[in-house]
Amino acid sequence: MTVALRMSNLHVPTLKEDPTEAEIVSHRLLLRAGMIRKAAAGIYTFLPLGWRGVRKIEQIVREEMDAIGSQELLLPFVQPAELWQDSGRWDAYGPELARLTDRQGRDFCLGPTHEEIITTLVRGEVRSYRDLPLSLYQINLKFRDEIRPRFGLLRGREFIMKDAYSFHDTQESLQEHYDDQARAYGRICERLGLAFRPVEADSGQIGGSVTTEFMALADTGEAALVYCECGWAANVEAAGTVVRRTPGTVDPRAMERVHTPEIRTIAELATFLGVSDHDTVKTMAGKTPDGALVYFCVPGDRELNPVKAARAVPGVTLLEEDDFGAYDIPRGSLGPVDPPEGTLVVADMSLRDEVAWGIGANEADYHLIGAMPGRDFEVSRWEDLLVAEPGDGCPVCGGELKGARGIEVSQVFQLGTKYSEALDATFTAEDGTERPFIMGCYGVGITRSLAAVIEQHHDDSGIVWPMSVAPVEVAVIPLAIDDDTVWPVAERLWKGLVAAGIETLIDDRDERAGVKFADADLIGYPLQVVVGKRGVSGGVVEVKDRATGERTEIPIDTLVDTLGARVESERARYR
Ligand code: ATP
Ligand code: MG
Repeated sequence: MTVALRMSNLHVPTLKEDPTEAEIVSHRLLLRAGMIRKAAAGIYTFLPLGWRGVRKIEQIVREEMDAIGSQELLLPFVQPAELWQDSGRWDAYGPELARLTDRQGRDFCLGPTHEEIITTLVRGEVRSYRDLPLSLYQINLKFRDEIRPRFGLLRGREFIMKDAYSFHDTQESLQEHYDDQARAYGRICERLGLAFRPVEADSGQIGGSVTTEFMALADTGEAALVYCECGWAANVEAAGTVVRRTPGTVDPRAMERVHTPEIRTIAELATFLGVSDHDTVKTMAGKTPDGALVYFCVPGDRELNPVKAARAVPGVTLLEEDDFGAYDIPRGSLGPVDPPEGTLVVADMSLRDEVAWGIGANEADYHLIGAMPGRDFEVSRWEDLLVAEPGDGCPVCGGELKGARGIEVSQVFQLGTKYSEALDATFTAEDGTERPFIMGCYGVGITRSLAAVIEQHHDDSGIVWPMSVAPVEVAVIPLAIDDDTVWPVAERLWKGLVAAGIETLIDDRDERAGVKFADADLIGYPLQVVVGKRGVSGGVVEVKDRATGERTEIPIDTLVDTLGARVESERARYR
């Protein structure tokens, strides 16, 4: 397909000023470069150039899916409620699921993910192990009514995802396809020019146990990661790390009760007791689904990981401010000594060998110092409860973990039989028995990836696209459009490049050179061909490489060939 674009009739409304609503660079540049416009919080229109970028990413993803034998289809965006009721997620998904009712009063939702609908489809049509494995994917809209849509395309409410689902008769078959998907995801990141890391993750709403997230590394990323030289890496939410505990500075002695009026925070408590935050213990209260109280004890300088808490005590939720009254416990002074009758005390493993803790006394304005587990109180269970941090021990080699931030661009999951069992989707196995499909699912955030590419590829002047994602590969910029030496050369080069199969735009606007250069850098064409009067009279044009800023003079006669070769070698880097 030839791509010949004229700036004068392209809708690319660039902005001179930084939009105030944009907190991070990808959001700011997508707006400024005239690629997206906001319709409502977390809902965007893709303008022609932005949409071209999206479609480049879609195409890369499509090629990688097709290469591993996944087949493209299109599932409905609007889905009947019954499927979600059957899987149990109509309630479990909560307010993120956007629900609607049709004129007959039937309930529907906007698809936030498509496990239910695809499992139901396959249930009706795939009957035998002979038809397995089967892998299907789509590139479609998703809607999630995120509590805090922000950062432009990074956390939208309406966004585009590639989601694939696979169906298997054995765990080995699932593992094989899962590995293929994970490898394809690595290649997708490479082809998008993303510096990335696959990390161990938590499976959240989707379910299942084996899962990997692909993180585009960026300081602006919402996810915190830890990684080790040995190659192990994980999202801190999931990381099973070994926390090194330096012995407490509090001497073992008889437990003492101290009056601590006005003390609300760990830092205040530590200062008051003359110890470090690390030597205090923070107790957080939760409740089980039957309403039983749970105390989670973690070192004062560490955060409780809610994912690990929920794994340690299934179904537990941390108490909200209003819940404290109902249990008659003093917020800010909780501790494991004499908790209310029946409280389950779960303490982080790193506290196990501790000699003495500064803890809450379960009485407003009092704390205890020198309390020892086993002597002064009992811990019902020792568990791994902490959000991992740099400096913790690697669970594989014991090495010291380092930290980084990332944008989760994609994730692969082994679902097992969670959905097939809930939705009664079975096949006839080789031995004649009916068994639930063993499933996997695999998602790439297409629009989030576009923003992630910009987070990693920009400078002060604008976007610096990798050739693979660039909405347009080359821009021809005539400096004087009504000059009868400049314009014909520019037009000829533009048509020549287009004929050579290069996506080329000509900036045929009657604008000052400075405006054209600023827009070209902002939009980020990888290569710019500047056609000026002086150059033309000497038989040359200037080619600017957006990434390096390097400018070279190239004879007009050989430009199409020379540039064609450069574009081709850049394309090849991302194939
Ligand atoms: P997050 O933890 O960031 O909310 P998620 O883990 O809920 O994302 P998945 O269900 O794994 O997301 O969806 C697959 C992919 O879809 C994600 O890896 C991400 O790239 C993309 N995605 C998810 N939520 C959003 C969103 N609100 N806006 C844009 N892309 C998103
Ligand atoms: Mg995810």
